[in-house]
Amino acid sequence: MSEEANNITLSLGQDYPEIREAVIRICESYPGEYWRELEEKCDYPTAFVRELTAAGFLSALIPQEYGGAGLPLRAAAVILETINSTGCNASQCHAQMYIMGTLLRHGSVAQKQKYLPLIASGALRLQAFAVTEPTTGSDTTKLKTRAVRQGDHYVVTGQKVWTSRALYSDLMLLLARTTPLDQCKKKTDGLSVFLVDIPGNLGKGLDIRPLKTMFNHNTTEVFFDGMKVPAENLIGDEGQGFRYIMDGMNAERILVATESVGDGRFFIKKAVNYANERVVFDRTIGKNQGIQFPLARAYAQLEAADLMVRRAAAMFELNQPCGEAANISKLLASEACWMAAEAAIQTFGGFAFAREYDIERKWRETRIHQVAPISTNMILAYIGQHVLGLERSY
Ligand SMILES: Cc1cc2nc3c(=O)[nH]c(=O)nc-3n(C[C@H](O)[C@H](O)[C@H](O)COP(=O)(O)OP(=O)(O)OC[C@H]3O[C@@H](n4cnc5c(N)ncnc54)[C@H](O)[C@@H]3O)c2cc1C
Repeated sequence: MSEEANNITLSLGQDYPEIREAVIRICESYPGEYWRELEEKCDYPTAFVRELTAAGFLSALIPQEYGGAGLPLRAAAVILETINSTGCNASQCHAQMYIMGTLLRHGSVAQKQKYLPLIASGALRLQAFAVTEPTTGSDTTKLKTRAVRQGDHYVVTGQKVWTSRALYSDLMLLLARTTPLDQCKKKTDGLSVFLVDIPGNLGKGLDIRPLKTMFNHNTTEVFFDGMKVPAENLIGDEGQGFRYIMDGMNAERILVATESVGDGRFFIKKAVNYANERVVFDRTIGKNQGIQFPLARAYAQLEAADLMVRRAAAMFELNQPCGEAANISKLLASEACWMAAEAAIQTFGGFAFAREYDIERKWRETRIHQVAPISTNMILAYIGQHVLGLERSY
């Protein structure tokens, strides 16, 4: 960790209490039944997302001059953590918070003036982020989707996978190759970022197909077949897109890590309540160390992860290099929430598998955090190479 990291101040405890209370009040209207019904219909939580948007929570990071709240990253993290701690699912709407950062940091003044106020008001949803491709996966610079300039527009051809919420978003942030890899000095050159109007292109070179998954995530496969994107929708400079996307990754990792912390808090609270009530062999099961210790261990891991998340958010806010802290946060939080999820399953015993308790739903939902938006292996490779100075393994 850098020298500068020694000079940050962290807020401990229940920071942003007024935000936590307001988010909890909204979440109370969306109990487990709501999420279970959506899952049965593979539906999107439109009402929930609308209410969060109307209350201004999803535009927390948009500067006030563009109609947002202009809050620090930590406040956005608190919003997402709180959503998940109540049993709701922030991953259905979290993308706007970090995708918007690419537009804010690298978009032109005209692009910001055109889009940010509409995103802040909820008139436009920016929820889809199209990077991953089926044949190249984590090896992002090899992605095959091409955008070729023709006059005042680009023509896009290729395919994406796991583009979540694309059917429930108006805009998509797309990473495509504008210069063939063999003509680039560096493999990270020649990639560009575009803002795509989804409804305007559907059926005109853009096809989006739902992809069913082990939990309700509304993710999709996206096919581009000669889709036209106006040149004015290029974000920043052509060929610099990989850098712009990487720029947003630390915020994304910190925010997703706080969702894991929220999930962990949900599991521990539910499991502790259940362990204090469920009587077997004439004693509450929570008296048994076999039940108590896994919960205590998960709680301790979660507290440690939470500290790291707060540290990463504070460094991000001060513009300090925070790749190490963001990656470690994501690693620790995703593992701590999984530990809590497993402990909750054991605590609930057979009833963990009954859908009405929401334990199995959240258990399925929280597992993704060890795989996406970045898998644990890639984080360990980052720490090995960039922090410890070990040889690159791939
Ligand atoms: C539900 C869901 C939602 C998603 N949403 C989005 C989205 O909205 N937008 C988007 O662009 N993407 C999205 N993704 C994609 C996600 O970011 C990728 O799945 C993830 O980054 C892993 O890539 P992959 O699946 O292609 O795995 P691969 O790259 O095929 O890798 C498979 C496994 O091998 C490991 N591996 C590969 N190379 C190495 C190596 N050199 N060393 C060690 N281990 C290695 C990986 O870490 C991984 O565990 C989503 C995925 C899921 C499942």
